[in-house]
Amino acid sequence: MLNNHDELAAKNKQFLWHPFTQMKDYLAEDPLIIARGEGVKLYDVNGRAYYDGFSSVWLNVHGHNVPQLNEAITRQLGQVAHSTLLGMANVPSILLAEQLVRIAPTGLTKVFYSDNGATAVEIALKMAFQYWQNRGIAGKHSFITMNNAYHGDTIGATSVGAIPLYHQVYKPLLFSPHIIPYPYPYRDGGEKAAVENTLERLEKLLDQHSHEIAAMIVEPVVQGAGGMIIMPDGCLKKIAEMLQAYDVLLIADEVATGFGRTGKMFACEHDEVVPDIMAVAKGITGGYLPVAATLVKEKIYDAFYADYEEQKTFFHGHSFTGNPLGCAVALANLRLMEERGLVADVAEKAEALEGLLAPLAEQPHVGEIRSKGLMAGIELVRDKQTKESYAWNDRIGVRVCQLAREKGLLTRPLGNVIVLIPPLASTIEELGEMVQILSESIWEVTTQKAVGRP
Ligand SMILES: *Cc1c(COP(=O)(O)O)cnc(C)c1O
Repeated sequence: MLNNHDELAAKNKQFLWHPFTQMKDYLAEDPLIIARGEGVKLYDVNGRAYYDGFSSVWLNVHGHNVPQLNEAITRQLGQVAHSTLLGMANVPSILLAEQLVRIAPTGLTKVFYSDNGATAVEIALKMAFQYWQNRGIAGKHSFITMNNAYHGDTIGATSVGAIPLYHQVYKPLLFSPHIIPYPYPYRDGGEKAAVENTLERLEKLLDQHSHEIAAMIVEPVVQGAGGMIIMPDGCLKKIAEMLQAYDVLLIADEVATGFGRTGKMFACEHDEVVPDIMAVAKGITGGYLPVAATLVKEKIYDAFYADYEEQKTFFHGHSFTGNPLGCAVALANLRLMEERGLVADVAEKAEALEGLLAPLAEQPHVGEIRSKGLMAGIELVRDKQTKESYAWNDRIGVRVCQLAREKGLLTRPLGNVIVLIPPLASTIEELGEMVQILSESIWEVTTQKAVGRP
């Protein structure tokens, strides 16, 4: 196998276009080319080890190259790699659906598969839209989303996205949801004021427009790509109650938060909320293969269940819906999570992680440290007193993560927020080493005299 760094780097440059990447910047740097993984570390083609500090974009659960997960795939491979769910079934997709319903908030009873977070969201939106029409209720055509929401990159998911940098350019192509603020206590006057503002805005909107709103989509408890912003306890519950009172569906986007990431199997459980529709993806296969699912309450499924002539069918599907290899490894992932008591373990390690991160608050440019479970963000500010942000083109987050990589930790920033989303199986010792690297990197980059100053 070809693993000569220089040769691969040349071909990478010649043939690849990377996601969420300005290729002009990327090509100016020596590329990192991963050859293999083991536990919570990835190794490049030169044999150098790095902590996978962002779980290969928020996916990884048990670490890399896990014998039980590898074995689940090879065992299934000996049976069949793929067979469709269009009008027929396959063994692992049935067994996984049973397990998903078992672990999901009670009341989510049917599973519709796809293969990534954006499509799971896309499906949720289309289901919510068609649900009202199938029930003969006209005019419920719009959606509510939240400031700085991220739900994926397909057109529907982009429409309910609200991060200007990613979404503005496509505006003329998209449908326009109502947007209410996600509570952001650090910048909105503390928890109480932030939550009140969100709830007041929602109530007013529902009061005037609920007759034309199909559903609200929410990143429950942690708004991920928007900057690891944490919704205070009780807020999601209030949102859910309000939506129910106004007959608007709740779609929970658990793509980032699902499967133990926040210290509960699903983040909705923190507030004992059962959404009408729930989209899951990232952690479902332990970070091994692309599988996603949209879970619904029976009432949603029922609205599509009708005589053929009524044309209430959900006309949606993908080539790889219910892929047996993916479902087999997802089953093994869930089994391993259960055997190891991983979710309870995450809740415990979350406290340790908070303790490890706490000293960073002393640094002159650390504005706020936020974490829920093993999902953490460190917001860097130019001025701690005024909370003045670094300018976008200071690239402060990018520079911290570049330095962290040199020191042996991989992660990606969200603007000025440094992300730490380690594999759930990381030990406290490993978490300590990861935090140490981040701490040094933040210190060295932010205390350089020249930072962002002309
Ligand atoms: C990552 C993410 C998505 C999109 O998932 P993909 O698998 O990348 O399409 C959607 N919603 C949230 C909250 C996410 O974090």
